[in-house]
Amino acid sequence: MMSIRHNVSLSELNTLKLKGQASAFAAFNSLESLIELQRSARELNLPLRVLGGGSNILLAEHVNALVVQSSAETINLVHEDDAYAWVDVDAGVDWHQWVCCSNQYGYGLENLALIPGLVGASPVQNIGAYGVEAGELIEHVVGYQLSTKQLRILTASECRFSYRQSVFKRELKNDFVILRVRFRLHQTFSPNLTYAPLDTLDRDGLTSDALIQAVVGVRNSKLPDPAVNPNAGSFFHNPIVSETLALTLRKQNPAMPQYPQVVGVKLAAGWLIDQCGYKGKAIGPVSMYEKQALVLTTKEGATLAHVRTLQKAVQHSVYSRFGVWLEPEPQVFE
Ligand SMILES: Cc1cc2nc3c(=O)[nH]c(=O)nc-3n(C[C@H](O)[C@H](O)[C@H](O)COP(=O)(O)OP(=O)(O)OC[C@H]3O[C@@H](n4cnc5c(N)ncnc54)[C@H](O)[C@@H]3O)c2cc1C
Repeated sequence: MMSIRHNVSLSELNTLKLKGQASAFAAFNSLESLIELQRSARELNLPLRVLGGGSNILLAEHVNALVVQSSAETINLVHEDDAYAWVDVDAGVDWHQWVCCSNQYGYGLENLALIPGLVGASPVQNIGAYGVEAGELIEHVVGYQLSTKQLRILTASECRFSYRQSVFKRELKNDFVILRVRFRLHQTFSPNLTYAPLDTLDRDGLTSDALIQAVVGVRNSKLPDPAVNPNAGSFFHNPIVSETLALTLRKQNPAMPQYPQVVGVKLAAGWLIDQCGYKGKAIGPVSMYEKQALVLTTKEGATLAHVRTLQKAVQHSVYSRFGVWLEPEPQVFE
């Protein structure tokens, strides 16, 4: 019997430290225990919501749901050949811990070190950093579809990964509980050093461990530690605009950073916010971080409503100056 707690505060379970309470909360460590919790949720007349490490959510003050969190932590080498190693990792494994031990099996995840959260959430927004996205190394995702009560295996192409997107944020939103992710790692270490500042590393003699340490060093110097400054990482997506708009903007703002994509041009949301004077600016207990305008940080007592006020102010300001609408990256958890 899974233990369900009622009226549970989630304030310490989200990295923005927003105030919020769930009607009910329980951990699960197997498909059977999840199915049992789905039954309990129905008896309680509550929907089921999955929480990972709470590092990419905007917590509502009242989460009228049975919130479940995976506590399954097995890592299992399934198969290997000369080129690849296939490894199954449970949803409850800490992402950074997995990256740090992944090179016992194979290579490729180094650039994704120190991203907060659990493995189960990594396919949801196809986490990415320094030119690597988790989706490139995912073979398939195993999960339970709540509406059909089916255990399903979704291949990487069925997950429809793109920039910070997947089927789990769209068609399967709130309907699919990821239980396990199968990674396909490379047997040869071939580091991706295309993105600054990793492009300054010397490829000769570079090891997987050294690259992980370099990524950790860069991230620690750039991003605020959620334990000190509560935050959810990048608060807005970097917008992708048409080439025509990018050209017009470049003419008006010669210093504007622009990154051509296969389709369209990616702009740096942090730069746009900074130009609008929001770097370090606070409204009530929330502010755009003084050292990195893309990060929103909170002080004690902050709620989703406070976050929304600053979010809207930033969105309108950037839109009226550049004609670009910024979309928040973390999604409301309610
Ligand atoms: C300091 C900081 C830096 C960050 N840097 C990056 C970065 O470089 N790149 C990047 O991509 N992201 C980054 N993030 C965002 C965040 O770390 C990732 O999105 C991460 O994958 C979220 O994991 P989580 O376990 O905390 O998920 P949560 O925040 O708990 O959940 C996020 C979403 O996934 C859903 N979910 C969680 N677990 C499951 C599951 N088992 N099955 C189905 N759905 C699930 C939730 O319902 C929710 O909708 C950063 C965040 C912070 C705080």
